[in-house]
Amino acid sequence: MTFTKTSPKSLAVLRRHSQKLQGSTAVRGLANRTLSACAAASDSPTSGNDKPPLRVCVVGSGPAGFYTTKYLLKEQGLSDRGITIDIVDRLPTPYGLVRSGVAPDHPEVKAAQNDFEQVASDPRVSFFGNVTVGSDVSVAQLRELYHAVVIAHGAGGDRSLGVPGEDLDGVLTARAFVNWYNGHPDCADLGPRIAAALRHSDTAVVIGVGNVALDCARILAKGADALRSTDIAAHALEALSAAAPKRIVVAGRRGAAQASFTIKELRELTRIELSLSAAQGVACAVREDELRLSDAAPPPPQDRAKQRIMALLGAVAEASKVPPPHSREVQLRFLLSPRRMVPSPADPARVGAIEMERTALVAADDGSGAVRAKGTGVTETIDCGLVLTSIGYRTLPLDDLPYDARRATVACAGGGASPRVENAPGTYCAGWARRGPSGIIGTNILDAKFAAAALAEDAASGALPGAAEARWVISVRSAAALAEDAALGAAGGGGRAVRTQALLSDSAVAVVDWTGYQRIDAAERARGAAASKPREKVVRVAEMLSLARGSGAD
Ligand code: NAP
Repeated sequence: MTFTKTSPKSLAVLRRHSQKLQGSTAVRGLANRTLSACAAASDSPTSGNDKPPLRVCVVGSGPAGFYTTKYLLKEQGLSDRGITIDIVDRLPTPYGLVRSGVAPDHPEVKAAQNDFEQVASDPRVSFFGNVTVGSDVSVAQLRELYHAVVIAHGAGGDRSLGVPGEDLDGVLTARAFVNWYNGHPDCADLGPRIAAALRHSDTAVVIGVGNVALDCARILAKGADALRSTDIAAHALEALSAAAPKRIVVAGRRGAAQASFTIKELRELTRIELSLSAAQGVACAVREDELRLSDAAPPPPQDRAKQRIMALLGAVAEASKVPPPHSREVQLRFLLSPRRMVPSPADPARVGAIEMERTALVAADDGSGAVRAKGTGVTETIDCGLVLTSIGYRTLPLDDLPYDARRATVACAGGGASPRVENAPGTYCAGWARRGPSGIIGTNILDAKFAAAALAEDAASGALPGAAEARWVISVRSAAALAEDAALGAAGGGGRAVRTQALLSDSAVAVVDWTGYQRIDAAERARGAAASKPREKVVRVAEMLSLARGSGAD
């Protein structure tokens, strides 16, 4: 049954609205969901509240997006009024960094997914996977369709070193490497490049001493055998089986006390040998002279976490004097800043070494009390075939949303202190998109509560816009749809469901809903079980879409 046959008046109204929204097919899917949500909500009492039920769109289904959804559902005022939340993600699969950022040997961190599954199963929540905000649908369009929009698109870009040779073959961002071993579709084709880099030299260098750097070093040091039973992508296992570096150098430009890794991750790196046989052991090495130099700016006594890190590094430096038998070594180096990537003499398109400059610690001139690294002119060249730059992520600008270039985040009121996006009423920001790329998965809980509370406060005070959108809904519901539904209902025509169906079939974007994702999930788990892994990730979007439609091989 087509729309034209069953409900010409409603179709006209919706078509007009779709045209106004520039004919985007993804928008029609969302508009359809908006309509059905409105229709469903109009059937239920509004608890004596004359405001229409709130429709919220959350952009991004990573930890920030899911936790914000969770805490929006918990806001009593919003529940009383009635709320539906649509979560939009550019991938057919949800969970963002929990799926493609958390290391495969950290399954306990991935347990956050269980929480997110509960959220997604709430009847007030819908998932729109494979919809890219910025191309399939704009933020402006979302702001027309929803009373409120929460931006939680994370940090999809990278900081760059800005040194010569950064574009040589064999130089990769840590983000690309992490995405690759975690099976992110964007990096599914990196295998041959990484394998070639690992074949070129037995040394890999990781620039930066944050937790991402330690993740990369640990995965390289463990190698394929120790990761076989994790959910690491099959292509990564294959490449790491073929060649793994014998030496992994992790270099920080400042001292040990200024490193941003945490004690848990450091301890794990120093203990890899415990999970392997003695012959395959991994030694962790720290140079005493570099720890001594780092002492120019020791951590304050009250900083217990840093004190523990320095004590552990001291113990590792002591143990490094007589290293145990090992086949791989992770060297933690400090006070070395990259100056340039040196082309390989054998293949000038490829990195063959990295030139580092010894640094000294000096007080930052902004009066903050921080220390910065200052070059000393003394250089050291490390031969290597793979360089991973792990120097931090960047939030990318999204459409015409205000962007704070200095902080590299969405511009929020109060310089990021508020979750309200500047000059965009009804638009909020959560997670890395607001506060920058720092903190662990759990940090997003507080952040999400913060965004949810601001949105609830604005809803209660009438500060949310959405008047134009609300008028659209009212015009559909009151003028055309209500009469149409009554007529269709009387004629046994199925009412709103018919309209919904017609709109969805009109859409050309292959939107993956939660049922579709569950099919992908089931296929991944089944393939994983066959390989004694928790899951075998599907790494191609086309295959994800096929599985989501129920037409995959599994
Ligand atoms: P990060 O902690 O900010 O570390 C970035 C590193 O890059 C720092 O060592 C920084 O040194 C260095 N760096 C920046 N610019 C540089 C330059 N031009 N030259 C040389 N070095 C430079 O970032 P991250 O490691 O990407 O981690 C992001 C967030 O995710 C962090 O909050 C992290 O804790 C979290 N995370 C947590 C886990 C976990 O809990 N297991 C795992 C992964 C990530 P300076 O300090 O000198 O600037």
